[in-house]
Amino acid sequence: MCGIVGYVGEKNVCDVLLNGLTKLEYRGYDSAGISLCDKGEIKIFKAKGKLQNLKDTIDANKNAINVPSSGIGHIRWATHGAATLENAHPHTCNCGSLVVVHNGIVENFKELKEFLQTKGCKFRSQTDTEIIAHLIAYKYKSSCDLLSATIDAVKELEGAYAICVMHKNEPETLVCARKNAPLLIGVSEDENFIASDLAALIEYTNKAIYLDDDEVAKVTPKSVEVFDLNKNKISKPVEDLPYQAQSISKLGYKH
Ligand code: GLU
Repeated sequence: MCGIVGYVGEKNVCDVLLNGLTKLEYRGYDSAGISLCDKGEIKIFKAKGKLQNLKDTIDANKNAINVPSSGIGHIRWATHGAATLENAHPHTCNCGSLVVVHNGIVENFKELKEFLQTKGCKFRSQTDTEIIAHLIAYKYKSSCDLLSATIDAVKELEGAYAICVMHKNEPETLVCARKNAPLLIGVSEDENFIASDLAALIEYTNKAIYLDDDEVAKVTPKSVEVFDLNKNKISKPVEDLPYQAQSISKLGYKH
């Protein structure tokens, strides 16, 4: 189980994601990837091995990046499928409009995959994660709403997940959810962060909302709304992150 980051705001999205993933490197991983929502287009960059390989890939393609409004990133510890480029996250649906990063294991992925294949979904990886992308996209067809589609999808997942989802039609929205895997939302002014560990966001904010199991959040630059799986909005405390973590980060402590 490895690491997730998400960012929506006016900072350089690529830099925030790569910086956050660097802070999560201590968790161990075999590949890395990010996706950017850039002028209404979803762009994906992935690399096997060290984060430096991903940084080099992005550097080599920097002319393809304009001014992204949001992004998600992942370092993977393979559980389903080898540590290949195809299996690295983010994963996407048939048309590439939606991307997902995931930590954890979807235990009922075989059944869901068989069902989704009957609906025309084409799988490009061996991961359990890819079914999440196709399942949310399938649900999105009826609601055209990323939050609603994500809630409808996670209700069908068995196992453990922390996910972060982005759709090109909602360029300033990230949706995240968790069950049996850590996830928190770093709260700030005109920007918000998502991470599996406070190490990835403590440099930017000292306020966070800790998601609990079976909660789904819609995160935009100016708002964080949390919902239960019945789509009821719930009120969550914004907590101060531990002072110790803040001072460690300021001293440049590397995990
Ligand atoms: N089960 C997923 C995979 O194998 C996620 C692994 C992780 O948590 O990094 O791709």
